[in-house]
Amino acid sequence: MFNKVLRATVRSGIRLQGSSAAAASVEASHSGSATGYSFELTDQQKEFQQLARKFAREEIVPAAATYDRTGEYPVPIIKKAWELGLMNGHIPQEYGGMGLSIFDNCLITEELAYGCTGVQTAIEANSLGQMPVILAGSDAQKSKYLGRMTEEPLMCAYCVTEPGAGSDVSGIKTRAVKMGDEYVVNGQKMWITNGGKANWYFLLARSNPDPKCPAGKAFTGFIVEADTPGIQIGRKEMNMGQRCSDTRGITFEDVRIPKENVLITEGAGFKIAMGAFDNTRPPVAAGATGLAQRALDEATTYALERKTFGKFNGLQNLLMAYQRSAWEVDQGRRNTYYASIAKAFAGDIANQVATDAVQVFGGNGFNSEYPVEKLMRDAKIYQIYEGTAQIQRLIIAREHLGRYKK
Ligand SMILES: Cc1cc2nc3c(=O)[nH]c(=O)nc-3n(C[C@H](O)[C@H](O)[C@H](O)COP(=O)(O)OP(=O)(O)OC[C@H]3O[C@@H](n4cnc5c(N)ncnc54)[C@H](O)[C@@H]3O)c2cc1C
Repeated sequence: MFNKVLRATVRSGIRLQGSSAAAASVEASHSGSATGYSFELTDQQKEFQQLARKFAREEIVPAAATYDRTGEYPVPIIKKAWELGLMNGHIPQEYGGMGLSIFDNCLITEELAYGCTGVQTAIEANSLGQMPVILAGSDAQKSKYLGRMTEEPLMCAYCVTEPGAGSDVSGIKTRAVKMGDEYVVNGQKMWITNGGKANWYFLLARSNPDPKCPAGKAFTGFIVEADTPGIQIGRKEMNMGQRCSDTRGITFEDVRIPKENVLITEGAGFKIAMGAFDNTRPPVAAGATGLAQRALDEATTYALERKTFGKFNGLQNLLMAYQRSAWEVDQGRRNTYYASIAKAFAGDIANQVATDAVQVFGGNGFNSEYPVEKLMRDAKIYQIYEGTAQIQRLIIAREHLGRYKK
């Protein structure tokens, strides 16, 4: 049976903080408490945090440098993570998953990222690909596409960015034209994580050619089987960091997608694609936090061994940022503001801490014999994917001003 370890933990009783029952208890403790918000972990959360931590320390850390050097996709690690239930945690229980909250998944993500953010991104890209289906899929779509991921360790991908449109998602040019009971898709996607490893894709394409049609109605979200004729997968991109993660361009040439694979309805795709980010940016922030913690630990250990520095401060603010943003969405509240704050903040601090860690190591820090140059390279992407640092700031400003306009 898949996901043996965590699944057993989930079944064993106490609900997890952030999942609905536990969320209620968090709310109750919040409203009745004089101390305000509390993200004190439940025993069960501590248990699977420990599981993820042990897995990261024992399985990921020792292999990370080799995967970074070779760029090989970390299949054995992914398989083991799947067996332990350390991926796909948010797939609802009715589709064979564990139904973990965003908060719970963030705790796991942070630990995996401590080991290697290349591995963590490969795993996290599954969440990104699945999230539109979780949020907008029909019962049949969820059973078919989420269900199969609980039966074997499969990957999926979120296929939105194009060579000419990244931050400005409404600029994408991939076209979907309805022909009978199918849509015929033509276009090119770029920078797709898990692009060459996915079993299926979430695809965003323009279905209304009228340039005046608002984004909220012009695009359609599809689920696409990766082996559909007409899909050409590009070469693996050689990136600066997170090098074992599989990033590729994908070309769609007369790809026929059955209308059953449309999410919600034609024209609903933009909101689905953007809505997914409210759920996936907290884990991205958690990943950046894990990396920052690793950089801090490496620098502190090194400095203490060299007796050059004293103690460093912890990263409590980063924890609070991603946990608050995850907690908000688990409450069923719109968390766009908090998700962007967490993502921007954690991405920036991860870069700062990783750069400082290299500095603490001096010349050794610049050398690949030591772990911190990898951390510095890996950190950069947190300011780019799932919305750049600048785009997060625009969202934060918009959300902030929006509160005053009400
Ligand atoms: C390793 C990697 C993995 C990725 N994985 C995926 C994936 O799985 N699926 C997917 O769909 N995409 C993925 N992406 C794409 C990623 O989300 C985009 O690269 C990102 O959104 C930025 O888009 P862009 O590269 O086109 O840069 P651009 O949008 O061209 O931005 C260039 C610069 O201009 C700035 N900028 C742009 N617009 C504004 C503005 N309005 N105001 C201020 N500054 C602005 C940006 O902040 C940035 O600094 C991935 C990218 C990478 C590198």
